[in-house]
Amino acid sequence: MRAEIVAVGTELLLGQIANTNAQFLSQKLAELGIHVYFHTTVGDNWKRLLQVIQEASERADLLIFTGGLGPTQDDITKDVVAEHLKRALVTDQPAMDRISQFFVQRGIVMTENNRKQALVIEGSTVFANDYGMAPGMGITVDGTTYVLLPGPPSELYPMVNQYVMPHLASLMPESQIFHSRVLRFFGIGESALEERLIDLIEAQSNPTIAPYAKEFEVTLRITARAATVEEAERLLAPVEAEIRNRLGTYIYATGETSLHECLFEQLKERGETIAFAESCTGGSLSALLTSIPGASSVYRGGTVVYTNEAKRDLLGVPQEVLDTDGAVSEQTAKLLAENVRQKLGATYGISVTGVAGPDPSEGKPVGLVYIGLAAEGQPTTVHQIQLAGQRKAIIGRTSKFAVFYMLQRLKER
Ligand code: ATP
Ligand code: MG
Repeated sequence: MRAEIVAVGTELLLGQIANTNAQFLSQKLAELGIHVYFHTTVGDNWKRLLQVIQEASERADLLIFTGGLGPTQDDITKDVVAEHLKRALVTDQPAMDRISQFFVQRGIVMTENNRKQALVIEGSTVFANDYGMAPGMGITVDGTTYVLLPGPPSELYPMVNQYVMPHLASLMPESQIFHSRVLRFFGIGESALEERLIDLIEAQSNPTIAPYAKEFEVTLRITARAATVEEAERLLAPVEAEIRNRLGTYIYATGETSLHECLFEQLKERGETIAFAESCTGGSLSALLTSIPGASSVYRGGTVVYTNEAKRDLLGVPQEVLDTDGAVSEQTAKLLAENVRQKLGATYGISVTGVAGPDPSEGKPVGLVYIGLAAEGQPTTVHQIQLAGQRKAIIGRTSKFAVFYMLQRLKER
């Protein structure tokens, strides 16, 4: 099935709001294995909307509209789709009852234009709006399906999850389920990853392999199409095994999780704790860990030792080390990690010190970072990395590298 998402609203074209509904809908359609070929945005204009519908219905089997189901003059989506389909608009009684009830409950008189919200295209399947007034609807005419949804995300998301997804699934050919596995990578870029898998990606048909990069990580979704979950699993297994065989060291997890959540889970399982000494990340590492509920069971605390004085006075890095090696150095990283671990009585101490930019520091280049890992009863290790990018990216990636190295260290223990 080829789909096109049509967002209706002049405010989208003016840049007053972002088209997040299209992003959400694309993600949901991907889950069903429906290919989205176009995102179209059009203003609240009858002629241009009609033109979009005519064009889209030529190239797609499924058109999903968002916006313009409300009561006001500029809400015209239903009327224009009805004109295109040469169908009438009829009142959906349950929706009308809901709307009237809404006004009765609030003790206000309903204005006439609100009746418009209960109108649906004749012959369509109605999707109740549990969080608003205008219902959604779906109708299939001559093999093309038209789905109309409200604009407000607070109404659209639950409607899609509750009613639209099952409706679309019921339109798919039977004995076709889509089952996928998500592999999460760190420490390898999207293009390098693709190069190592290019033969698999080029030969893909079932399962399909789709990489995407986000927030300095790469995610690979492998999706199989089959009659049953078991059969899909059988198709996925050899592909996953081959990918692990080639790139296993970069894979840190499967499914919906994050580096820091993995670290939290593993430390918790082992009954171990961690402490941070942060310079260039300014607390970002601690923020990652404390975003997880129950973090205190593994996170002892951390210090932001931004200046040389802070490194010296709070975490005991000797002045001579700062003078000779510098703040951004292997030796400083080592001492910071060891001292924060000891001071806070944690199993592990992690330190980060580097040059976030935009200017070099101590004659050291932007993006040079040292990450120290101290562990109770073990020698301290220090990783030196050279990152590219702007300040924000360097800080973000440094935090993730620190967590990634810690996860690798846990694998060894
Ligand atoms: P209403 O009954 O609120 O008028 P509607 O179905 O007519 O709903 P619109 O009038 O087009 O929808 O949009 C209402 C609001 O929904 C917008 O002001 C905006 O906040 C949000 N919205 C609309 N379209 C989108 C979109 N594509 N992505 C994200 N938000 C959107
Ligand atoms: Mg509206």
